[in-house]
Amino acid sequence: MHAQFQNRRYLIPFRARLLPQIFCDTLVIGSGVAGLRAALAASEHGEVILVTKSDVDRSATTWAQGGVAAVLETTDTDDAVESHIQDTLTAGCGLCSPSVVEQVVRSARPRIEELLSWGMQFDLDENGRPARAREGGHRDHRVLHAGGDATGKEVVRCLSSRVCDAPAIRIFDHCFALDLLTTSDSGNGSVVGAITHHPKYGLQVIWAYATIIATGGSGQAYRETTNPPVCTGDGVAMAYRAGAALADMAFVQFHPTTLYVAGSERALISEAVRGEGAYLVDRRENRFMVGRHEMAELAPRDVVSRSIIEHLVETGETNVFLDARHFKPGFFQKRFPGISQKLAQFGIDPADDLIPVNPGAHYTIGGIWVDDAARSTINGLYACGESSCSGLHGGNRLASNSLLEGLVYGELAGRMSAECRPTVNGNGNGNGGRAGLSESSKQIISDIPLSDRGELDLHDVRSSLRSVMWRHLGIVRDGPLMDDVREMIEFWRRYTLDKIFDDPKGWEVQNMLYVCSLICESARWRRESRGTHTRADEPARRSDFCVHDLWSRMQRPEDAPACVPCAGDAAADSDAVVGQGHEG
Ligand SMILES: Cc1cc2nc3c(=O)[nH]c(=O)nc-3n(C[C@H](O)[C@H](O)[C@H](O)COP(=O)(O)OP(=O)(O)OC[C@H]3O[C@@H](n4cnc5c(N)ncnc54)[C@H](O)[C@@H]3O)c2cc1C
Repeated sequence: MHAQFQNRRYLIPFRARLLPQIFCDTLVIGSGVAGLRAALAASEHGEVILVTKSDVDRSATTWAQGGVAAVLETTDTDDAVESHIQDTLTAGCGLCSPSVVEQVVRSARPRIEELLSWGMQFDLDENGRPARAREGGHRDHRVLHAGGDATGKEVVRCLSSRVCDAPAIRIFDHCFALDLLTTSDSGNGSVVGAITHHPKYGLQVIWAYATIIATGGSGQAYRETTNPPVCTGDGVAMAYRAGAALADMAFVQFHPTTLYVAGSERALISEAVRGEGAYLVDRRENRFMVGRHEMAELAPRDVVSRSIIEHLVETGETNVFLDARHFKPGFFQKRFPGISQKLAQFGIDPADDLIPVNPGAHYTIGGIWVDDAARSTINGLYACGESSCSGLHGGNRLASNSLLEGLVYGELAGRMSAECRPTVNGNGNGNGGRAGLSESSKQIISDIPLSDRGELDLHDVRSSLRSVMWRHLGIVRDGPLMDDVREMIEFWRRYTLDKIFDDPKGWEVQNMLYVCSLICESARWRRESRGTHTRADEPARRSDFCVHDLWSRMQRPEDAPACVPCAGDAAADSDAVVGQGHEG
């Protein structure tokens, strides 16, 4: 990796002591399910500031349609919990951390009961209990949903109204977190807060004993994506600059069914549509998934996405279709009101028309490496939700497990952040109380020399980067083509990371360059095919790659990543050709 990339510690030059100073006990960055839940838990032991770069409800969480995977043991047997655990491990292709899977799946019930007690309105079945749908990779009906296909919106409504009512939480919206502040630049210091930018108040320093990153994924790194514009990987990039380890960056989940209307913004067509019985067909109305996988349309997402791409190559067509014309009259509109509305905007009536779809980047599996208490590899920094990599999803995420992870790890991160507060014995993250925190401020200085290199058009860099990522680091990858991408990113980095920008558009492109570069490095290093990571030149799964690959700014550019052996399911890791293996 280029030295410019390795060495850059902060995106902007500053003297911390000259900026406005704000103090809190816990700083939470991001207002999706993970950040909102983390803020609530942290507010039980101290003052919290929650910053979010847009409106509070602008997040992937708000866009979530299908639901939350959860077994409620009050109505289900322990076998049902075991089966959820097993489905998660199977989808993860040998790379899940089994203890994390168990912890998350077993925590589903208390987290959901808590939501219910806070007024969450799940859709109910005829017995008045939360109705349960089935999605790809799930053997049982266990996906709870709200408003038909508006689960995320209801989760955000429920959590954010509670956050707004919590006296210990202050919300700073439209406040962009630029970088984490650390007591040392060499990766062995503690995180003591963040530098932020607000259009009205400018740059500010927010000091905190603990900082929780909950900034979501980086789907915007791809031209075709289901993600909202806020998903640019900022938190992952800032954690990397601060010295935290990132893991499994090669793994990006592609959703098989994104509405494909040329020229329009892509929109997700939930997996639940297939769960309710819709078929995937081609232009000749041939159900091409039948015979490719025993679960046909409900095979895990990587299998379905790859099959679509293969089928398009075979047929020369531009997209495939969802066929829901056999649904009972009125059912589609009732079960999927949001999707129906979106389709109506393009004159598509699912009762009469096929729905044109294609895959798109959907979920960032890799991210900030955290332990089973949501701690990153540096003191004072926690991460939860899509910006983190906890080992829950392994090599592929089971549908509807991410809202669940956000709830479970959000609560955990918020609760665990209490350990950073100074005690009378001097424990905590070593900052010595508020006086100590502000003392740190005097020492934090960022100097960035002015560059005399030429300027690139930022908009062009952004769109070229997204295109090349989609073409060569998308669903099927190939070693030599990824080498070319690496060189292109290297070039853009050289002319972009040497510059100093003064608004989020520039900072987001810089962050995307970090994230794309790390996805590329990890994907080149992983000489196998597993889960969402498929290499045409390395089609077999290799047991010597059954490890989490960790990347940090501290490693030398020529070094291989640190590898953490995966305590995964050995049976699920036998060498297998992708598509015929154990994906579900
Ligand atoms: C269309 C769609 C449908 C989905 N459906 C489902 C589903 O049915 N079930 C399921 O389990 N999962 C689903 N997912 C995935 C799931 O929604 C996400 O993984 C999950 O919501 C992520 O939550 P989060 O809190 O980690 O991040 P997000 O919800 O993405 O929130 C990230 C937050 O961080 C803020 N932020 C980012 N950068 C900065 C910065 N620099 N400074 C300040 N704030 C910042 C953003 O503004 C945002 O508030 C879906 C995803 C999409 C895109």
